[in-house]
Amino acid sequence: MTDLPARRLLLVHAHPDDETINNGATMAKYAADGALVTLVTCTLGEEGEVIPPGLAHLAADRDDTLGPHRIGELAAAMAELGVTDHRFLGGPGRYRDSGMMGVPQNDVPGCFWQADLDEAAGHLADVILEVRPQVLVTYDSNGGYGHPDHIQAHRVALRGAELAARRGHRIARVYEICYPRSVVEAGFERLAAAGKDFPFEGVATVDDVPGVVADDLVTVAVDGRAYADRKTAAMRAHASQIAVDGPFFALSNDLGQPFFAVEYYRQVQGEPPAHSGAGRATDLFGDAGTDEGAAA
Ligand SMILES: [Zn+2]
Repeated sequence: MTDLPARRLLLVHAHPDDETINNGATMAKYAADGALVTLVTCTLGEEGEVIPPGLAHLAADRDDTLGPHRIGELAAAMAELGVTDHRFLGGPGRYRDSGMMGVPQNDVPGCFWQADLDEAAGHLADVILEVRPQVLVTYDSNGGYGHPDHIQAHRVALRGAELAARRGHRIARVYEICYPRSVVEAGFERLAAAGKDFPFEGVATVDDVPGVVADDLVTVAVDGRAYADRKTAAMRAHASQIAVDGPFFALSNDLGQPFFAVEYYRQVQGEPPAHSGAGRATDLFGDAGTDEGAAA
């Protein structure tokens, strides 16, 4: 391809909604800046719990039509973020949501947890060779919080990058999604201060937030505050999964969490690091987006 934008960002996520919760402001910011933002979602999220009573019939143990519904939610969310390149790994429905760790759905043939790693990573390598990203974003090795599909997404992302490098495109920088502990703690203090006006059944804790790490492990902070309204709108588009109220939101457990428009990353591959030492970089590309670069 010769007509690709100069800067190209690839995000690999497990279910529709993960991209918006974790990276919505980042995606909107880079899309607005003219970068190619490519989202690869690995499952349709068929096993998700449904929040609105009016949509309860979609659930896996009833009509089992949540997957197709979430394709629509994801498309609406991407429209809010200005992201036009979003795909499902191997095509929509190729890999089914595996459910939370330890449930029988983990063993269902065709679920993402049971996927052959090289086959799944091969689908991702095809995308990498097509869009030739300089930056890859995914979860840490525990998937942020131990969900099998998130762990598998991490494995597929790294393996896909490896296969693509062998086939001719090396990604310059690989990042894991994370949250600095002090930022999350401050978010929960804001939430506690909201007191009785707080709209959800209960309050989550720092331990409920995926990917919380010691502050000094965080290498990049992307300031997406100018896109906070876009992120909020995209979260609302995932209505089966997320309840949004002002600066807070809740998932199906109805435990309130703070909303973040500054999003954080830890570089785990690529030389030189976007930043080291005190302070954090503010751009995922560093010098990797300044030329055609990143060819293997
Ligand atoms: Zn997920």
